Amino acid sequence: MERLSVFDIFKIGVGPSSSHTLGPWKAALDFRNSIGPEEWSKVHTLEVFLYGSLSKTGKGHGTDIAVIMGLLGHDPVTVNTAKINDFVQEVYNEESISIHDKPVYFAPNTHIHFEPFEKEYHPNTLEILIRFNDNTHRREQYYSVGGGFIEKQNQSKGNAHSIELPFPIDRASELLNYTIQNKCAISDVVYENEKAFRPEDAINTQIASIYDTMLQCVYRGCHTEGILPGGLSVTRRAYTLSSQLMELTKSTNNPEEWLHNIKNQKHAFNTINKWVSCFALAVNEENAAFGRVVTSPTNGAAGVIPAVLLYYLCFCDNAQESDIKKFILTSGEIGSLFKKGATISAAVGGCQAEIGVSSSMAAAGLTEILGGNPQQVLMAAEIAMEHHLGLTCDPIGGLVQIPCIERNAMGAMKAITASTLALSSDANRAIVSLDDVIKTMWETAQDMNNKYKETAEGGLAINLSVIQPSC
Ligand code: SF4
Repeated sequence: MERLSVFDIFKIGVGPSSSHTLGPWKAALDFRNSIGPEEWSKVHTLEVFLYGSLSKTGKGHGTDIAVIMGLLGHDPVTVNTAKINDFVQEVYNEESISIHDKPVYFAPNTHIHFEPFEKEYHPNTLEILIRFNDNTHRREQYYSVGGGFIEKQNQSKGNAHSIELPFPIDRASELLNYTIQNKCAISDVVYENEKAFRPEDAINTQIASIYDTMLQCVYRGCHTEGILPGGLSVTRRAYTLSSQLMELTKSTNNPEEWLHNIKNQKHAFNTINKWVSCFALAVNEENAAFGRVVTSPTNGAAGVIPAVLLYYLCFCDNAQESDIKKFILTSGEIGSLFKKGATISAAVGGCQAEIGVSSSMAAAGLTEILGGNPQQVLMAAEIAMEHHLGLTCDPIGGLVQIPCIERNAMGAMKAITASTLALSSDANRAIVSLDDVIKTMWETAQDMNNKYKETAEGGLAINLSVIQPSC
């Protein structure tokens, strides 16, 4: 089993898709970094092949753009997202990629190949091929296995495997046992494990950076109007919704102050419901516009966790910012359990693997910081997934917009409901365990028709009565 850090699950990146944008971007970057000056000096052509789901929804998910950005050497964590179009356009104009100061012929329209058939190992496979002057070539195969994780053919899955954790966890039952043996909370166990990966200062800094990125993303989404790219003419709604909700409140340019103003509003159920939906829409509209988001556990589902976390900070009594850490640690561990026991890739398991997992993570995180015991935390995670089982992936036009954006609002509300139910239950009497539901999710994923696994070949993606974009 994999040894995963919480920061493998929460990654700062660029939208719209962790498996179709972030993963291919990282693969291309890895390829670029693997080439020395001498080898590159002998290259005359570079080609990229996108297979299976990466081909079927790759245009809508910006896979071609991501690959170009990776080949150019840009880091998805730090790149100025406002300049992505310029960087990519330059490659189209120049028809070359420069590495080690040597340009090589690369015309994206003819050198990025969309091949709809699947390669054996994973539906999200990409190959990068370089041809040398002496007619030999080198071909590298990568798999984007969900949540921005990549694997390379014939390579181990990274050094996280070799790390010895004080509390090795493959199943929810093991996690629960550690909390019982040590009389501690789930976040305490996860924190001890996390310390095996990095020093405490680094953990705290990274958590602060994740929260800050989430908050900035929500704030930007709530303050940006217009139409999303891609051709579906989807209007951004978080701007309108937040403007209506803030009508009587002082406007501000500062996200923290903005949050403070929301907190001080009168909180009718309907207002809370609208704000939570608005937070989720804001993130996924930013995601659809190639904005900076935190993959949690994927980009398509990146709005659920921030919406639930901000729900806690704005609307729950005695909410403390210091609880953000416990929330991130707990929800990250639940994401790891799904990655190990099932999948977080929609190309493998449909949307239950994205929105279902994010909702389960958020439900657990919220229950932890609302004072739930470990059994209740796991029960909340189980309830949230139980009611996403079988959820298909059918993005219209291959874009991460419909149904994806609204689906985040639904995932967030289900997480809050799951937490409420768990907190008011005797979790020792729960009939379905989190391990049961993870196993069920995995079996459902395996039985699911391929049409419903991020191929845009079934469901809403083919039953739309309006004109769809050419991509
Ligand atoms: S339908 Fe769900 S899984 Fe599919 S792209 Fe949209 S958010 Fe991701």
